[in-house]
This record gives sequence, structure tokens and C-alpha cells, in this order.
Amino acid sequence: MALAHNLGFPRIGADRELKKALEAHWHGELDEAGLRAVGRELRATHWQLQQEAGIELLPVGDFAWYDQVLTHSLMFGVIPQRFRPQHGAPSLDTLFSMARGTAADRCCGGAHAQEMTKWFDSNYHYLVPEFSVDQQFQLSWPQLFEEVDEALALGHQIKPVIIGPLTYLWLGKVKGAGAEAFDKLELLERLLPVYGEILQRLAEQGVQWLQIDEPILALDLPQAWKSAFERAYNLLQWSPLKKLLTTYFAGLEDNLGLAAGLPVDGLHIDLVRAPEQYPQILDRLPAYKVLSLGVVDGRNIWRSDLDQLLPLLQDAQQRLGERLWLAPSCSLLHCPVDLAREPQLDTELRSWLAFAVQKCAEVALLATALKQPQDADVQTALAASRAARLSRRLSPRIHKPQVQARLAAISARDTQRQSPFAQRIVQQRALLQLPPLPTTSIGSFPQTAAIRQARQAFKQGKLSAAEYAEAMQGQIRHAVQVQERLGLDVLVHGEAERNDMVEYFAEQLDGYAFTRFGWVQSYGSRCVKPAIIYGDISRPKAMTLEWITFAQSCTDKIIKGMLTGPVTMLMWSFARDDISREQQAQQLALAIRDEVLELEAAGIKIIQIDEAAFREGMPLRHAQQSAYLAWASAAFRLCASGVGDATQIHTHMCYSEFNAVLDSIAAMDADVITIETSRSDMQLLKAFEAFDYPNDIGPGVYDIHSPRVPDSAEMLKLLRKAVQLIPAERLWVNPDCGLKTRGWPETEAALLNMVAAAKQLRAELA
Ligand code: GLN
Ligand code: ZN
Repeated sequence: MALAHNLGFPRIGADRELKKALEAHWHGELDEAGLRAVGRELRATHWQLQQEAGIELLPVGDFAWYDQVLTHSLMFGVIPQRFRPQHGAPSLDTLFSMARGTAADRCCGGAHAQEMTKWFDSNYHYLVPEFSVDQQFQLSWPQLFEEVDEALALGHQIKPVIIGPLTYLWLGKVKGAGAEAFDKLELLERLLPVYGEILQRLAEQGVQWLQIDEPILALDLPQAWKSAFERAYNLLQWSPLKKLLTTYFAGLEDNLGLAAGLPVDGLHIDLVRAPEQYPQILDRLPAYKVLSLGVVDGRNIWRSDLDQLLPLLQDAQQRLGERLWLAPSCSLLHCPVDLAREPQLDTELRSWLAFAVQKCAEVALLATALKQPQDADVQTALAASRAARLSRRLSPRIHKPQVQARLAAISARDTQRQSPFAQRIVQQRALLQLPPLPTTSIGSFPQTAAIRQARQAFKQGKLSAAEYAEAMQGQIRHAVQVQERLGLDVLVHGEAERNDMVEYFAEQLDGYAFTRFGWVQSYGSRCVKPAIIYGDISRPKAMTLEWITFAQSCTDKIIKGMLTGPVTMLMWSFARDDISREQQAQQLALAIRDEVLELEAAGIKIIQIDEAAFREGMPLRHAQQSAYLAWASAAFRLCASGVGDATQIHTHMCYSEFNAVLDSIAAMDADVITIETSRSDMQLLKAFEAFDYPNDIGPGVYDIHSPRVPDSAEMLKLLRKAVQLIPAERLWVNPDCGLKTRGWPETEAALLNMVAAAKQLRAELA
């Protein structure tokens, strides 16, 4: 009968125990034995939680000290020269230095950390494997085998999890001599023997089933990679282990035949992201294979609609019998741990939610419901699930007629500025009277200990609202004074009052809810606690007006108002699953639009709407990308287009790969865009050669991610490169992101040099 299994469980711990232990270890407050003990305890707890929830086959190998891709790099001996221990095997120190770099004073000159990037379309970041052209692979890290023994000793039924060879190679980058001309797929032949060894050892440990994650099967793959799948899995076929190949985050589409036909014993598909894969998959799946259906959403926090799933599962059970397995759609890494930790949540809202533990229970419940549909407990659980879904469907807290009416009334006019950019910019220049190459910043200034203490004291009730406002005003006044002294042209208020660029707004919007322990790992020890969009979004009152107008009252210079855009609000929240992302973005856009208009009415002449997450919302499959880009840029325009021509709209994006989306960024029609370019030495601007971006651009002239203060000659060099590619009259001068993580001394020093560089270039051009 249908087997309930899980693809992976959050490793960080319900209380972020792993985060705390890691940080204590890095600060020298917890030794390695202590850290290892925390890891062991977490694994034991997590297996037990899953087992108690009814999961029959538990994942092992989903735990990682920092990141699962990094664990694989150690396992295969993919350790760049600069981190390789002089003698002996790699240690936990090796692993942490690969993840975090080594400081110059700790090691010979210091080594920069491996690159980090987003795991598919999630907010989880992995460490990019770093290959060399002559890369050799050998089994170098026993963690997986140790954890298998650990789980077996606890008496668990387990299924080790590894990343498949093709996905592992796909995620990596070849660096060093000869890298450019080298196809990393050539490494496959060298890598496969190590997989062979791993399978062999797991079999010797008594493992029966192995889960091999190959999520790249849900991407548009080049033909060479498709063919490589057959080669690789034919070679691994001889192993006595049974292999479950897992795919997730999108549909298999053109790779469906390939995936179904590979010589493995089972296939997992994501039916949440791509429900259309069933029943199609049944026609292609050989009659000996297990089919694992990922039916419980591993990427959000909503309770499943079990009633809707059951008929499909009954059908699958009839056709597959014992060969049917049930699971969450993907690893639960992307979910908070346990809803039981949130007793403070309103009961109705709580009844709509499911975190990792609850999602495991849902999978198990579905399996039991197939076995014993008449069982009284099953009936009770299904009834509870039904009641929750029903209350969610009907709740007046979710569906707000005013919001619906506004959405229905949106017309093309609302998503378009009154005049084209060429006309607007003339009016804006006349109004703003800025020098050529105007200097500005991205918004935030240092979030000092004093600021954080004041916020904390206010939240704890130790500071009254008036005292808190006064403290923040003091910070704003200070930030404005510093910017005046440095000679910046367009000033900001500094965002002292904001804990986070999304949460700050979410807290003031209706339709958002917040958890206490809803943490999700972002990378290493870093966790985020996304707010939950549960209902239609509306803005009860102004969110930033008071602070921005206060800043403006402190200076005669122009203050740029600072908002977070609708797409970023959506991407960095847990979104609803009962209406489309597009519609949620529109609701957010309308709320922010009202704020934009209120700022304009209060005399604010420049308003920046940050869209840091614009690029990352992009679907994995090419075929779906243009639809996303269309609604995402429309949502931005909906939020920005209510203003008059003379009001200047800025936006900011801080990732480096926008070549493919430049035309959609242009379609957002912001008057000015500030972007990250400094780390790539203005390389990114090359994209602007091919694509003639029509509006103003501020390519970041220095990297704010490091405390290093670049001198003005260095920034001048970058600016000179920029004027080669962008006409000087459309060029702005700014750092490449917000300064909240920096301290004041380096911030002032760097901005002073930046202003000097701009003045120098102005003089040269004049
Ligand atoms: N305005 C924000 C800041 O300066 C933008 C941050 C971001 O793009 N991540 O902090
Ligand atoms: Zn940024």
C-alpha cells in the first residue's frame, strides 16, 4: 500500500539550534565535539518528529553543517587548492573556510569563500562547486555513511539522499586555467566512479533505497546533458541499491520520457508545481517502477486540500498498487519546522497552516486514507482538514470586496505614466536642478547598535511611541546631515526605522500575518522569517510618510522617498496558494501606489521603489518566463505610474544576472535604475551595449558588501568605463546597494571618495 516518505527535513532546528551552535563554534565558544553533539541531537529529533508524524521511510543526508551542495563537494573531494589542508583529511574547519573564506590573519594571505547562489527558484543559497579543468574526484568525507549508521542504530527505516551526478555538475563552475574552453560535462566520466563507490558502501551498510535528487530534469536541458543522463544512470545501474530519482520545482515536460525511462527503480515528480504530469506519467513509466507523487507543497506553509487530492490518489493506487509512494513535493528545507510553536496565532488562521511536521502528517494521513478509508481517525482528520479549507475559502478576512473592486477597475491607463520618458525627463530635470552625474545612495545607512536597541526597547514596551519616534528622528537627522556634509545631491532618510525592507511594510499592511519561529534557512547559519500573505492586501494608513517628510524638513536638498516594490514584497513572503502570484502582486502594487501618491502629494519629488527580487521570481522553464516578466513589470508600473510626469521614479536591483531580462526591466519604465556592477568591474554594463536601455542608470561604483574603502581613483576608473557605455547625461553615481550592514566610518569615507570621483568626471566632461 502507498508508502509515506519524505525528501528532506529542515535542518536548522525549531529553535534555530544549529544556527546558534554554528555561530558559537565560529566565535570559539563551542568546541567541535559540542557542535557535533548538537548536530547529532537535531538529526535524532528530526527523525523522531517525522516518524511520529507517520513517515515510513526517513531521509538521511539532508542534514548539513552549512549547505548540502557543499557537503557533496567535500564528499567528492572537490576542494579548491586554496582550502586544501596541508596534510590529512579535510576537517570541519576546511568545510567552514570553503563556506566563509579565511581571514588574512588566520591563514597565509586569506582565501575568499566559494561563490554562493540561489538554489533553483528558492531563497535558499548553495555554495557553487568549484572545479578545475584537471579536477579529480575521490571519496573524501564520511558524513553520509556516519549518519546512515547513526539512523540505523536508532532503529529507523531510512533512505539516504544524495544529489545526482548531473545536477551536481550542473550547479558547479569550472575555474582557473583553461576554464573558458572547457565543458564541465567532460567531468562526468571522472565523477561517476565515486558515485559507484558511494552506492557500494551504502549497500554494505544495509541500505535498500537511495534517493538521488536530479532537479535539473525539470529545467530546459541542452541535448548533451540529456544524453549524459542515460550514460550516467546506465553505468550506475549495476549497484544492488534501489534508486528513487527525484525531480521537483517544475514539470518534467520534454524530459518526461527521459526521466521515466532511466534505469532506476522509482521516480518522484512534483505534482504541486506541475499537476498536469499526472496521469500522463503513467503512460511512460515502466511497469516495474515506483512512482512517488509529491502532493503536499514543500515550498509554502498552507494546509493541503486533502479532499481534492484523494480521488487522484485513489486512481493512482488502483493503477500502481504497491508501487505508489507519497511525499511532499520537494524537500521540506523551505518550510518552517513546527506549527505547534505558534500558539499565539489566531485560531482560525492557524487552522489554515501546516509547517514541516504538519506536512509530514498530511502525507502520512493520505497514505492511511488510501489503506483504511473508513478508519475513524482518518475520517476525523479529513473532516478537520475540510473544515479548515472551507473556512479559508469563505473567510471575510481573506476576501475584501474593496480590494476586489479596485483590482477589477484597473485599466491600461493605470499601468502607464502620463508621458513617455523623453518628455518626463525634461520636466524632471527642470524641477530637480541636479548637476550632471548626480550622486545618491541606495537607501539605507548603517543600522547601528543604538538603532537596534531602540527598536527592541520599543517592541518590549520600554520605550514609548513618542520616545521611539524621537530616537528615529535623531538618526534620520544625523543621516541627512552627514549626506549634506559629504556633498551628495539626492539624499535619503536612511531607513533607520526599518528592521527589514519587506517586513517593515508587511507589518503595516492588512492581509499579512507573522510567526514567532517560522524560520527558514537562507544560507549557512542565516535564516529568514518570511511574513505570510493570507488575505487580500490593503493599506490602512501611510507607512513611510512621517519619516520621509521629517527627513525633507531637515534639508533643502532633495530627499528620495524609499519603498519596497510589489514583486519583492511577494517573493520574500510566503504567498497565498488560493489566488495567483500575479493577483497578489497587483494587490501589493495598489497598496504601495497609494503610498507613492501620498509621498508625492507631500512634496517628495523622487521616489525609489526597490525591486531586489524581481529577477528571482522568474520561473525555471523558458516557456513560462515571458508571462512572469510581463505581469511582474506590469505590477511595478501599476505601483509607480500614478504620479505626475515631473515626479521621478527610481528602482533598484541588486543581482548580477539581468542580461536576459533587460527588456523587461526597461518595460518597468522607471526613470532611473540603480544596479550592482562594481564587483564585475562594470562587466555587467556590457549588456547595455547590446540592449539600448532607454532611461537613466546608476551603475554601482563600489561594493558595499565589504568594509574596504575604495579610493576615488578606483571609482573614477569605473565611471570612465560606464560613460563609454551610457551617455553621461543619463548616468548616476551611487554605491551598488544599501549601506545598512556597514559602519559609519567606512560609509562616510567611501561616499566622500565617490562624490570626489563624480566631481572629477564632471570637470573632465565639462
Ligand atoms: N533600499 C534598500 C537599502 O538600501 C535596498 C536594499 C536591497 O536592494 N537589498 O537597504
Ligand atoms: Zn541592492
